[in-house]
Amino acid sequence: INFRNVDFLTSAPTLAECPEDSGAEVAFAGRSNAGKSSAINALTGNSKLARTSKTPGRTQLINFFRISDRQRLVDLPGYGYAKVARSMKDEWQRHLASYLEQRQCLRGLILLMDIRQPLKEFDRQMLAWAVSSGLPAHILLTKADKLKNGPANNTRFAVEKELREQGLDQGVSVQTFSSTKRTGLDKLERKLAQWLSL
Ligand code: GDP
Repeated sequence: INFRNVDFLTSAPTLAECPEDSGAEVAFAGRSNAGKSSAINALTGNSKLARTSKTPGRTQLINFFRISDRQRLVDLPGYGYAKVARSMKDEWQRHLASYLEQRQCLRGLILLMDIRQPLKEFDRQMLAWAVSSGLPAHILLTKADKLKNGPANNTRFAVEKELREQGLDQGVSVQTFSSTKRTGLDKLERKLAQWLSL
C-alpha cells in the first residue's frame, strides 16, 4: 500500500453520512495533543489531511481519507476536552461509539497516546469499546523521542501489563512511535497493510 497518495475524501457528522460501508477502513483516535495529526502527516506526507480535521467546528466530525477506491483511513478527532461542554461530549461519544460498533468495513483502531501519559480515561474507553466489539486495536505510544530507549520500552511493558490485568489485551498490540524521528513508522505501515488487505 502506498500511503503517500492518500487524500481527503469527506467529513461525516453522523454515521448515516459516512461513505458506503464497503471495502476496508482503519480508524485513528487519540486525545487532543496525543500527536495524531503529526502521525498522519508522517505516514502520508500530506499535512493538509491533518489540518482538515483540526479546522474549528469540524472537530466533532469523522474525517475520511482515501487510499484507494476500496481502502480508507479514518480520523476520529479527539475533542479539546477542557473546552467542550458536557452535552457535546456525550453526543460526540455516542456518535463515536455507534461508528465503532456498527461500521462493518472497520478493520482496526489505531489508538495514539502520549508515552508520558498513557491509558487516560479516554484511552480506556476506546479500548473497552474495541475489545467489546471484537475490533483489533494497535496502540502507538507517541513522542517516544522524549524518552530514552530503556524508559520508552519499560513504558510499553507497563502498558501491556496493565492491559492484561484489566482484561483489555484481546487483539490489542502496543508499539513506541515518534513522528519527529520517524521511529516505528515501518511497524505502523505493516499493521495498516495487514488490516487493509482486501
Ligand atoms: P493532535 O492534537 O493529536 O493532532 O496532536 P499534534 O500532532 O498536533 O501534536 C501535538 C503536539 O505534540 C505538537 O506540539 C507536536 O509538535 C508535538 N508532537 C507530535 N508528535 C511528536 C513527536 O513524535 N515527538 C515530539 N517530540 N513531539 C511531537
